Amino acid sequence: MIIVLKPNISKKQESTILKEIRKRGYKPHVMRGVARIVIGAIGDELTHQSLETLLTVFPQIVESVMPVQKRYKLVSREAHPQNSTVKVGNHVIGSKKFHVMAGPCSVESEKQLLTTAEAVKAAGATMLRGGAFKPRTSPYEFQGLGEKGLKLLAKARKLTGLPIITELLSENHAGMVADYADIIQIGARNSQNFQLLIAAAKTGRPILLKRGLSMKIEEWLLAGEYVLSEENCNLMFCERGIRTFETYTRNTLDLSTIPIIKKESHFPIVIDPSQGAGRADLVKAMCKGAVAMGADALLIEVHPNPAEAWSDGTQQVSLEVFAQLMQELRPLILASGRE
Ligand code: PEP
Ligand code: MN
Repeated sequence: MIIVLKPNISKKQESTILKEIRKRGYKPHVMRGVARIVIGAIGDELTHQSLETLLTVFPQIVESVMPVQKRYKLVSREAHPQNSTVKVGNHVIGSKKFHVMAGPCSVESEKQLLTTAEAVKAAGATMLRGGAFKPRTSPYEFQGLGEKGLKLLAKARKLTGLPIITELLSENHAGMVADYADIIQIGARNSQNFQLLIAAAKTGRPILLKRGLSMKIEEWLLAGEYVLSEENCNLMFCERGIRTFETYTRNTLDLSTIPIIKKESHFPIVIDPSQGAGRADLVKAMCKGAVAMGADALLIEVHPNPAEAWSDGTQQVSLEVFAQLMQELRPLILASGRE
């Protein structure tokens, strides 16, 4: 911790603070400037009592307290300088191979899911997405088919060989969802539901952790830390747009998270351009940007008839648009050093 004292404080005030720092288990190192004293307090911020309260306990003496260590450990690049990868069947996310997870927002029917699964596979998708438990803003909207939807996803996997990714909404369903899913998605509305994160992590399945609607990057990394704390090292971060003042788009897709997550953590970053802007017409451009910026995978909503989708109709692309998109992405994926 770095403790900056107010200008022109007395010797007595200085020794009060030094005493307090020692009392809390840290070793103080005093740096005397012209007008101010800065104290470096050496000690493990995780095992010792926090020094941040010095500011509130001694407001006349202390100007600011700044942590030196990061609050997240296991997810941090410092803890693991090499990239971590996530194995899903024969696939490895975070490797040279670029991955596209595609499928409907919600699983609606066997025909809808199987048609989509076959089409996205033919177009080059490597995994199938589909929500069986849907986090809807209104209780009057379609809530998902539940286990019936999971069974259909399993059927689609059997038919196409594509691993499946689906959202876990409740701790009560962790075992059930893990029985069907190859990857468990934790949605934006639940990314700081810590008990759910723990339950999901305990299943041992790979976890795709979406960024919350108003989640700071540090909070997102700390949510990932919960997964690692349960000794589940199969983590992916997924940027899906955040809520801003802008109303032109449903969310504002923050592509800066690609280099930031790569710098701060060792886990793959996935971009979801569908929730990202809430507009099908912007999906292509955002996918291209994500590839160019070094994302490891995309999570794209695809529906045979978006106009009639039971959820997120405005942002799902048709089978034809998806096939076209994959064609256009191919040279960009190669140019960015991926396959
Ligand atoms: C989804 O993937 O359909 C979804 C609900 O995502 P998010 O949690 O990002 O809104
Ligand atoms: Mn959706």
